[in-house]
Formats: sequence, structure tokens, C-alpha cells
Amino acid sequence: MLEDKNPQRTSLEELGEFGLIAHLTQNFELKHLSSVKGIGDDAAVLDFASKMTVVSTDMLVEGVHFDLAYMPLKHLGYKSVIVNLSDIYAMNAMATQVTVSIAVSNRFPLEALEEFYEGVAMACKLYKIDLVGGDTTSSTKGMIISVTSIGEANQEDLVYRSGAGPNDLLVVTGDLGGAYLGLQVLEREKEVFKVNPSSQPDLEPYAYLVERQLKPEARKDIVELLYNLKVKPTSMIDISDGLSSEVLHLCKQSGVGCNLFEDKIPLDPSVISTTEEFQMDSTMVALSGGEDYELLFTIAQKDFDKIKANPNLTVIGHMTGETEGAHIITRANTKIPITAQGWNSFKS
Ligand code: ADP
Ligand code: MG
Repeated sequence: MLEDKNPQRTSLEELGEFGLIAHLTQNFELKHLSSVKGIGDDAAVLDFASKMTVVSTDMLVEGVHFDLAYMPLKHLGYKSVIVNLSDIYAMNAMATQVTVSIAVSNRFPLEALEEFYEGVAMACKLYKIDLVGGDTTSSTKGMIISVTSIGEANQEDLVYRSGAGPNDLLVVTGDLGGAYLGLQVLEREKEVFKVNPSSQPDLEPYAYLVERQLKPEARKDIVELLYNLKVKPTSMIDISDGLSSEVLHLCKQSGVGCNLFEDKIPLDPSVISTTEEFQMDSTMVALSGGEDYELLFTIAQKDFDKIKANPNLTVIGHMTGETEGAHIITRANTKIPITAQGWNSFKS
């Protein structure tokens, strides 16, 4: 459905593996002192001096995690890095390096990989990340991407999923459900396009949702904000699978329960209007839709005054004793146990 903006097709065999790597990575410069050695040797060398090193990896498989029918490769490159950085920020750490590994079949020309690396480069530039390595190989079918992100933090600043206590406030950044609805919109347009390839989709009313799906951002700004506000969360996680499953992770790993208030869940107006159009429940979408990459964290009550004025942060509930369980308090004031309906179960 997306126009092929790159009519030129150079086969990967023409370059050979080493030529390809050199070509794709030629414009990446190292920005961090901790990046002692980047691309070009057998391994990268990093030096974090007295800081703790934080590492996270994600794998993205074509047909499972992304669909190139509506995902431009540049966006895919960007998103592949962003979703990994999100995990580093969720540790209250600062991301500093990534490695990017790709496997592609011979249906991908050089120009496609150039586009992908444009997106990688844009994410690295905006988030001040060094690309320090990766691997390039072939696949029999489709594209597989693996990104490893590396970050640093002072030991005392690290935040785990396990530190929440009873009475802590439950806080979420940004708004929820947009990325999932963006995917629904794109899937719908893909079906329309299959039937009528000359149709021009009007995605304008859904611009925010589609952007949330195709070009998510990681909340580096929140880690910096909390640092400046002198608020250290007691626990934290990023929202990749939907609010409900992430809340349950915090509860389980911290040994607490929680009360989450439906009417407090932050929703963009376009999420509300589009759930009406799709005849979905906006709360369900926020709870079970995925890929918002917002941060979910708990803070001690004494820190409430420091965060309450910030429009990026919404208190959506509080933690309780473990025996009380995890519940959502609905608008009708009924108390319903939270169940982990991840992304997949919600889709099917
Ligand atoms: P090796 O055979 O030792 O694994 P490679 O030829 O795969 O070495 O890689 C050579 C260098 O290029 C290494 O520094 C590696 O990290 C880097 N590299 C390989 N593929 C990529 C890629 N897709 N993106 C970024 N760096 C890469
Ligand atoms: Mg290699």
C-alpha cells in the first residue's frame, strides 16, 4: 500500500557482506566517552568506569512483530531502536549504545536496508546513542531484527520492578491505547487496499494513532524529569504489552496489590472517538492494547507534591497489601480483578 519511493534495486550480493556493513554503518559517529571501540573489530569495547551497566535485547520478526505492508522500513529501523531504549529507561538508566543485527532474504535490495538504517540513525541521533556493532546475515524468508541496548546508571539510581510498597502511588506517563488503535486502523486500510489497490486511504483523522504505532518514542524525558524533581520511583516498568499486564508485573514482583481507577486512565481524545467508531471499549484498549512504550511506576506518597503539576504524569491508583489483590475500580464504582490480557490474547 505504500508507494515504493526507491525504484532502484541493488542486490545485496553485488556488495558482499563486508561492503554491505561498511556501507550501511559509514555515517555513524561515536558520541559517548564510554564507547571506547565501536564497529570494525571483533567486538566493541565499552568503559562505564564506576557506573552500573544495563543491557536489554529484543527481537522483531517479520509477520509476527511487524508487517512491511504498512510499516515503512525507515520507521521500522527507528522503532526497533526505540523499543529497546524504552527498556533501559524503565530501569531509570540512560541508554548509551546499541547493537543492531539483521537477517534478510534476497527479496530485500540494498536500498531497503539503507532506508532501515536511516531510521536507526535518526533514533541514535535523537536519543544520543552510539551504534557500536551488530551482525548481518541472510534468512530464507523475511526479515528478522535483533537490537541490544546498553545503558548506564549510578547503582543507587536503578529502579527495579520489585520495589513497590503498600500505599505507594501508581503513576503512568503520557496516554494509553493509541498504538494499538493505530494498528487497527492500518490493518483495516490494508484490507481495503487488498480489495481495491487504487484506493487512497485517508489516515488524517487517525494521524496521532498511526504515529503512535509507526513512530513511537521512548520516555527518556521522564527519566530526566524525575531526576530533576528528585523523585526516585520505588518500582518501574515500560508499557509494551498493555497496562494490565504491566501492573500485574509490578504487583507480583513487589509483593503488593493495587487499586487502579478506570476514570483516571489517561486517554487521548482520538483514542476515545476511534474506540467508539470501532465499537471497542476504551478502557479495554488501554488495559490490553500494546506498544505504547510509556512508563508505569510507583512513588512514595511523600513525593506526590513534586509530580502533581506535571501534565506528562497521571496518578491512576495506589498499591495495597498483597492479600488485597490487584483490582480496577470502574466508573460505576465496582471492583474488578485485573487479569493479564496481553497483546496477543486481546487480538485474537
Ligand atoms: P564477525 O565475523 O567477527 O562477527 P562481522 O563481519 O559480522 O564480524 O562484523 C564486523 C563489524 O561490523 C563488527 O564490529 C560488527 O559489530 C559490525 N557489524 C556487523 N553487522 C552490523 C550491522 N548490521 N550493524 C552494525 N554493525 C554491524
Ligand atoms: Mg558477525
